[in-house]
Amino acid sequence: MSKTWRPATQLVHSGTLRSQYGETSEAIYLTQGFVYETAEAAEARFKGESEGYIYARYGSPTNDMFEKRMCALEGAEEARATASGMAAVTAAILCQVKAGDHIVAARALFGSCRWVVETLAPKYGIECTLVDGRYLENWEKAIQPNTKVFFLESPTNPTLEVVDIAGVAKLANQIGAKVVVDNVFATPIFQQPLELGAHIVVYSATKHIDGQGRSLGGVILSDKEWVTEHLQDYYRHTGPAMSPFTAWTLLKGLETLPLRVSQQTANAAKIADFLADQKQVAKVIYPGRKDHPQADIVARQMKGGSTLVAIELKGGKEAAFALQNALDIVKISNNLGDAKSLITHPATTTHKNLTDEARAELGISPGTVRLSAGIEDTDDLIEDFAQALSKVIA
Ligand SMILES: *Cc1c(COP(=O)(O)O)cnc(C)c1O
Repeated sequence: MSKTWRPATQLVHSGTLRSQYGETSEAIYLTQGFVYETAEAAEARFKGESEGYIYARYGSPTNDMFEKRMCALEGAEEARATASGMAAVTAAILCQVKAGDHIVAARALFGSCRWVVETLAPKYGIECTLVDGRYLENWEKAIQPNTKVFFLESPTNPTLEVVDIAGVAKLANQIGAKVVVDNVFATPIFQQPLELGAHIVVYSATKHIDGQGRSLGGVILSDKEWVTEHLQDYYRHTGPAMSPFTAWTLLKGLETLPLRVSQQTANAAKIADFLADQKQVAKVIYPGRKDHPQADIVARQMKGGSTLVAIELKGGKEAAFALQNALDIVKISNNLGDAKSLITHPATTTHKNLTDEARAELGISPGTVRLSAGIEDTDDLIEDFAQALSKVIA
């Protein structure tokens, strides 16, 4: 496998382990265990003196292909596939901290991610400070002598704020802390956190990587040293491993990832521009637009816009519900990154557990809806929004 291949080529070929049958498509190795030729071979395998698989909770061939393909794309040395995005986030954070340590995290996080750092970690004596991650000085002010991890997502869910990843990484390096980036919203096509200086990248592969609404999955990527020191034993012994069948669906997803993300992004950009001019719309937030509040950081660290658009309607919750109910092609769903266009009302779904105040801090108003653009024909989507908006009072 060539390291110089561009992403679209890596995503079709990297990591493939072809069996003696020479199959074209990657094989699904649905096995829990592995057979050794001799007792001596088993002993050597367990001692780490010979290469090979031991037990599917540790690693297995189909998962290995997925992990290697992700490493090639991300420029990482090691990866571990997990059963969900949340398993990846939880493992990536908890494997490297202990009671008495401190985490600094952006407050604009996917709901379950925020629960892990804000509610779960403190139960085990790990303190967490949540900051408005848009401003670097907030990260700096939150640093304590025991700060070990910085955690962020960029762009954020659902209001598409961005965090200066290189800036946060610089602060972390000054104190020997690690930066974990949840890169779901940016996708591996548009943002490479390791290149920007982050130490660990996590994905919910459920989103764009599957991209066709089939499987839950996640992946953690980093360098060999961090994986060996922190993640390897945690992963082996707590058991967040991905099913090989899921790894196979995700390998197939990766093959078409660049095509889907590019069509989804083109659709998102055109819909964002269309909606920005409509009288029912108060505001459109889209990382690809010049009026994005942090357009300078977007230009610095992202290679493309986003497949998501945050839309604020003038008519509040009533207008948000009327729009969703009137859309025909665009389905109401809290999932994202799918081939199908999906829309959700964060205040009553994904972010319903936050207080009104916490929602306001994140820029989520009763009139906010989040669109995940799919791969449908652009004009059909625009026409769908046009007919649906005509039923929404400005
Ligand atoms: C969906 C998502 C997760 C959680 O992933 P699951 O696969 O649903 O467990 C974490 N972070 C972000 C940003 C997400 O969008």
